[in-house]
Amino acid sequence: MPKQARAGRSAPPTLGFVTSTVAGEQTFDSLDPRTGAVVASHPVHTAEDVRTAVRRAEEAARWWRGLGFDGRRTRLLAWKKALVARLDEVAAVVVAETGKPLDDARLELVLAIDHVDWAATHAKKVLGRRSVNPGLLGANQAASVGYPPLGVVGVIGPWNYPVFTPMGSIAYALAAGNTVVFKPSELTPGVGEILARTLHDAVPERALVEVVTGFGETGAALCGAGVGKIAFTGSTATGKRVMAACAETLTPVLIECGGKDAMVVAADADLDAAADAAVWGGMSNAGQTCVGVERVYVVEQVADEFVAKVAALVPSAHYGPMTMPSQADVVRRHVADAIAKGGRVVVEGSIEGNVVDPVVILDVPEDSVAVTEETFGPLLVVNRVPDAAEAVRRANATGYGLGASVFAGAGAMRIAESLRCGMVSVNGVISFAGIPALPFGGVGDSGFGRIHGADGLREFTRPQAIARQRFALPVPVTSFTRTAAHMRTLLTLVAARHGRTLR
Ligand code: NDP
Repeated sequence: MPKQARAGRSAPPTLGFVTSTVAGEQTFDSLDPRTGAVVASHPVHTAEDVRTAVRRAEEAARWWRGLGFDGRRTRLLAWKKALVARLDEVAAVVVAETGKPLDDARLELVLAIDHVDWAATHAKKVLGRRSVNPGLLGANQAASVGYPPLGVVGVIGPWNYPVFTPMGSIAYALAAGNTVVFKPSELTPGVGEILARTLHDAVPERALVEVVTGFGETGAALCGAGVGKIAFTGSTATGKRVMAACAETLTPVLIECGGKDAMVVAADADLDAAADAAVWGGMSNAGQTCVGVERVYVVEQVADEFVAKVAALVPSAHYGPMTMPSQADVVRRHVADAIAKGGRVVVEGSIEGNVVDPVVILDVPEDSVAVTEETFGPLLVVNRVPDAAEAVRRANATGYGLGASVFAGAGAMRIAESLRCGMVSVNGVISFAGIPALPFGGVGDSGFGRIHGADGLREFTRPQAIARQRFALPVPVTSFTRTAAHMRTLLTLVAARHGRTLR
């Protein structure tokens, strides 16, 4: 079902903000969350439309694969250049559909451009066929592994970082030799369309990214449309639905879901840097960041100083309205529960309509929903702990496991390694997301599989093993011409190779 209609509009009874039916085609509006004004109308693509898009993408995929790594690299770098030249044009659509500040939209694009570059320039090295040691029994073989593409990858994306997040799948899937059918969030369809347009303008030979727009049903249709893989980013609840739908056709899935990321602040941390990172990590993008800081565990002896620094920095936070107003209700519920359970409000922000001011609450019981559930809003829970070990224990006591951050001195790496999550920033926040060589993804309720880096490239391929016989073995062990003497020779070789005890 469509998400709740946004500010300035009321939802028609059954189909959210579907606005019209033109020549049998339903359309819906994307809205500016700052004003409620219509940004643009987009088609509600049906299951048949989705299948047609996948068929077109399959045809383009054959051509794209045939270009090889070098041909694809040239074209993806042309796209990168186009994105740089049209950065503000794309950023304007991001701002209009999400309400985030222009510089935040620009930053999102800058990071995405870096990923396009990395994926394009590293695909050959990471995915090109490579030789492996054939071992004793395969001494007569040339053994190699290649990573051919899957064909068409279906990408289903969220609205919070409508460029950066799906590009983590799109750029890597393309560089690996696939084409893409992209279903952007119903809140940010225009961003999906302009991204595809910039690619088509830079590489006009084929449509490498087909965009299908609509609501959850359009995404569900993509899951059943026979693509080589679904790369889903969104909430854990929808991720489970996507996985169940994909199970019907054994379509593989990459699932990037929500998080409840913790920051650990040790006694020997740089408190100025930690406070700055906590405020940015918790409040930027109105807290609507999957790897945003939602919980801080600060060691008792530095807690007062840390909290004072956080409280001093918060008033400078500037991030725009919530993109989806229903999220303000979630923040309201989490704040109320935290206070009811005994949390002490340090910074009390007001919540009016879809504008939520920063809220910081101290000593929130661990069974409060502000600690156990993803808030996805500008609420920072700061809890005092006796030592870093207890901070780690509490940080890990959640079903989620996306990212984390650590502010500490000499013990920082040890703390980082003991956190149960996919990514950690040490003495920084969300730093891993801007390093293209690092894999991005979570564990547990945060999902599985990886975008970015070499792992992110391999995610959109299937490893293909080839053993090429160079000459016949003198000991034919896999033939009916094998004799007892052949087996004796083989067993002697194995005893010599594996039978010795190491002292
Ligand atoms: P949703 O789960 O609501 O939606 C994600 C996407 O799935 C949207 O395109 C949505 O379409 C589509 N969808 C909805 N129902 C179905 C269905 N049955 N089958 C297939 N697709 C469907 O998430 P949000 O868009 O609200 O994004 C916020 C969530 O995303 C947060 O939990 C956040 O933590 C997470 N996230 C995770 C990231 C990560 O990398 N791990 C990064 C960014 C966000 P429609 O919008 O039309 O309903």
